[in-house]
Amino acid sequence: MNKSIAAICFTAMVSGSLMISVPSVFANTESDAVLNALPSYNGNDLELSVEADRTNFKLWSPQAEAVKVNIYDSNNSPVPSQVIDMVKGENGTWNCSVPGQLYGKFYTFQVNHNNKWLNETPGVWAKAVGVNGHRAAIIDFDKTNPVGWDSDKGPEIKNITDAVIYEMHHRDFSMHPSSGVVNKGKFLALTEDNTRSAFGDATGIDHLKELGITHVHILPSYDYSSVDESNLPANQYNWGYDPVNYNAPEGSYSTNPMIPEVRVKEMKQMIKALHDAGIGVVMDVVYNHTAANDDSNFSLTAPGYYYRYRPDGTYSDASGCGNETASDREQMQNFIVNSVKYWADEYHIDGFRFDLMAIHDMETMNRVARELKEINPSIFVYGEGWTAGDSPLPVERRALKENVSGMPGVAVFSDDIRDAVKGHYSNAADRGFATGKPGNEETIKIGIVASTAHPQVDYAKGNNSKFPYALSPTQIINYVSCHDDLTLTDKLAKSMPGSTEEQRQRAAKLAQTIVFTSQGTPFMFAGEELFRDKKGVHNSYKSPDSINAIDWNLKHKNEDLFKYYQELIKLRKNHPAFRMTSSEEVAKNIRFDNSKEPNLISYSILNNANGDEWKEIKIIFNGSDETRTVKIPKGNWSIIAEDGKINATGLGETTGGNIEIAPVSAYIVARK
Ligand code: CA
Repeated sequence: MNKSIAAICFTAMVSGSLMISVPSVFANTESDAVLNALPSYNGNDLELSVEADRTNFKLWSPQAEAVKVNIYDSNNSPVPSQVIDMVKGENGTWNCSVPGQLYGKFYTFQVNHNNKWLNETPGVWAKAVGVNGHRAAIIDFDKTNPVGWDSDKGPEIKNITDAVIYEMHHRDFSMHPSSGVVNKGKFLALTEDNTRSAFGDATGIDHLKELGITHVHILPSYDYSSVDESNLPANQYNWGYDPVNYNAPEGSYSTNPMIPEVRVKEMKQMIKALHDAGIGVVMDVVYNHTAANDDSNFSLTAPGYYYRYRPDGTYSDASGCGNETASDREQMQNFIVNSVKYWADEYHIDGFRFDLMAIHDMETMNRVARELKEINPSIFVYGEGWTAGDSPLPVERRALKENVSGMPGVAVFSDDIRDAVKGHYSNAADRGFATGKPGNEETIKIGIVASTAHPQVDYAKGNNSKFPYALSPTQIINYVSCHDDLTLTDKLAKSMPGSTEEQRQRAAKLAQTIVFTSQGTPFMFAGEELFRDKKGVHNSYKSPDSINAIDWNLKHKNEDLFKYYQELIKLRKNHPAFRMTSSEEVAKNIRFDNSKEPNLISYSILNNANGDEWKEIKIIFNGSDETRTVKIPKGNWSIIAEDGKINATGLGETTGGNIEIAPVSAYIVARK
């Protein structure tokens, strides 16, 4: 979630069924000192574990006066078949065991707090749930594994900079009739081979293979609140930044949310299909806030513990969504760390994108990165290095972009390059370097060197950040657009009035060439390779499919642009020079030329950087609408990009000299 939509986000939350009748009335009366001193529990058997001969329940609720578990024969049973009083155990837990394996049953917990029985909750660790996530389900996870799951593995990558990330929403990707997909809007959409548009172009997972991306980043896919799973024909759309059950998949993306196994099974099938295609899966995680306040699963299991509060006891709100969680408390930190580890273990997830990451403390993010790497060294972690409002968490502890040097295993989105390339995100008419606005040159250079220290980059002239905040390029995610704000297509339309589509596509090519050739990790929004738009809607979190769905017929119309993206990705994947992994290498191998003209940047990547077969790559960006002349040293150069065309293996040859760089284009040559 972008800080730009914080205010609107609150509307999103109150539109959720849980929020309408539940104003924030809870005033926390406990001091931080009391809450911080509560015992924590870090075992992996919280809430439910099934053994050969019994089923165990263990709820962490250190301040409860009593806890009971309600066991239901079905999700619809009006009354429990069994109610069991739990017994206080160690480290704030409450326990009970029932003989036999209770597969097929459902359960909720109820906590007595300050002499009052709170509402039922599936707890915070429900790994399977009934429709809309009100009750937890007891299922046999071994039976949810697709064939070959034991040997299933995502792509191995050495560094995050080897990834090319493609951010997509399940409905955006497959809902449009032109997708040719059968399971539209579902996890299973990504398991369908040989899907085609009416023009015969590959869609779905075949399209991803053709494009060459390495990882899909799926928008929230845990169980969220806003879409009514019991009424799927209503075709509701939501981004899903309104978490309910963090450890169970969202039901509306399954073919049957009534049967708890189905969503688990189908999400695994999706991941297996992507892995079989050599593509990794990054999950968007939103631990920074919950959809509900007093009635959230956190509040109903351990009231007051999991959130931060203002001095008057009301919920603090750095998320702009009504509350913020407290990762600085031990059990919340345990929760976040163990939850991502669970997704990595059970679902083989290859990476995590943290929403509003700066609401979390750095120590938590460091633990997340470290413990995930122990499971699978190819896993990577990145996030939004900002908050959407103020927080009681001191600035120096926040997992902010500016603090990323204290989190060596974590990457952050570069809003520096984003806004400098195409213009400010919150001002639709504002232009950037690629659309002819001067004054962004130094910030583009900051993007090229991935916000690391470089002797030729003057951070004082940067638009956003004023110092080299990254320790290495592995800490930077480069992008010009994502699900938030205007799509690149819409941004170009709004900031280039009177332009032709051809002119806007030239600008799009230049913008993405800057992203994909810069040091750091490139990130793109699904469908921009087809020049998809969202009809000018900048905050489409609950807009209908008619706004959000990708029209696959665009692939035919914009074939030239699609091929440009393909070659750009190939260029990056074939050449390690674009994927350096230390700031020392970047400082040594990147040399900027002295170009004084506005909207012109010329630089070289030298010394067979990072083991590249190319001794020197010369890259020139001309964001102005005039032809510029640049002197290229004499030599035998292969032309890679010129005048809106690109070919990773070469468009032709040149011996250098004075070269004319076409308006709004990238020029790339390389020599061995
Ligand atoms: Ca849901």
